[in-house]
Amino acid sequence: MDPRTIGILGGGQLGRMMVEAAHRLNLRTTILDADNSPAKQINALSSHVTGSFSSSADILELSKTCDILTTEIEHVDTNILEQIEKEGKVDVQPASETIRLIQDKYLQKEFLIRNNVAVADTIKIDTPSVESLENVGKEFGYPYMLKSRTLAYDGRGNYVVKAKESVPGALEALSNRPLYAERWAEFTMELAVMVVKTRDGRTLSYPTVETIHENNICKLVYMPARTTVDIRKKAQELAEEAIRHFPGAGIFGVEMFLLKDGTILVNEIAPRPHNSGHHTIETHSTSQFEAHIRAILDLPLPPSTTVPRTSTTSSIMLNILGGPDPASHLRVSKLALETPGATLHLYGKTESRPGRKMGHITVVADSISDCETLIAPLVAATSYTPS
Ligand code: ATP
Ligand code: MG
Ligand code: MG
Repeated sequence: MDPRTIGILGGGQLGRMMVEAAHRLNLRTTILDADNSPAKQINALSSHVTGSFSSSADILELSKTCDILTTEIEHVDTNILEQIEKEGKVDVQPASETIRLIQDKYLQKEFLIRNNVAVADTIKIDTPSVESLENVGKEFGYPYMLKSRTLAYDGRGNYVVKAKESVPGALEALSNRPLYAERWAEFTMELAVMVVKTRDGRTLSYPTVETIHENNICKLVYMPARTTVDIRKKAQELAEEAIRHFPGAGIFGVEMFLLKDGTILVNEIAPRPHNSGHHTIETHSTSQFEAHIRAILDLPLPPSTTVPRTSTTSSIMLNILGGPDPASHLRVSKLALETPGATLHLYGKTESRPGRKMGHITVVADSISDCETLIAPLVAATSYTPS
């Protein structure tokens, strides 16, 4: 199909599902992560690199095993990626500049604002102190959201500043992290759209989904989102508009807030496959993972790529999180095997921890209400989820 080897920074579940998609097309992938990471488990090769995607030396080592570098995570060393890009021997997709802009959530917000993409009002906090955080409260009112600019995931890095009295607690919770603040978004629903950007700058978007978070972790994803066709279309347009500005090709996850008056704001962007696009493995002939690979290698991506298999195809995805004991998540997994229309994905993480993403289940049917009926017992079986 294509003789180029794809080097992937990160070997977690997103890397693993990228490998699955690449292998079906007979494409070769090498991975940088710890030994036995989820992606390496399904990809037997001696040329993988053992190490970390935050180490420049390890990234350089991976670049020697491949023709094109891509990533399953944004928390990577972008200086070395830029250097590799400049040398020109190995392609980097999406561009290092895109990953640099996105990995710092404040720079990402500034970039979106500069490009007239609607986001929540944002204030940079240069020196975190009781005074500076109280000043944010004066400007935004309470609650507001305090966020770490870097290394954030699953809400680790966010703190809801509920009132003036919560300021000391916020400072302690996010001490030693670079911070910024966001005005509280009074959303009625969280939406997400997966956007594919091609090498020649075209954008395609998968249908708008609704994401439901519990304890800051994505729990359920409904496709399509349970809102009007008009809102879903607006969300796709906003997401494509946001992505158009970022250099390089690949798949992007765009998280959004739907406000009461129908306004849609971009919450944040991921320069990689995303939890809200897992359902595409079953609902589309080309998944988000395959679309990413096709985009970075400049393989065909017709408009039909992002159109569901049928006009009624609907799905609900449930994340399987680690529970109080090492086997909690296996009970819901077994139940999934007995559920019609359900597909089980387990990631091969060697250790289960409360709240850790261990796998996911997608149910597909011809309506959301049929999906709800199918998924209800599975959701009930995840009631162990930590609070
Ligand atoms: P991810 O795992 O998606 O990368 P993250 O740690 O980067 O998560 P965010 O996406 O910034 O965190 O926020 C997590 C959740 O917190 C959001 O999905 C939303 O539910 C809530 N949230 C974030 N920002 C705001 C805001 N400004 N107003 C209200 N709620 C917010
Ligand atoms: Mg994030
Ligand atoms: Mg998020």
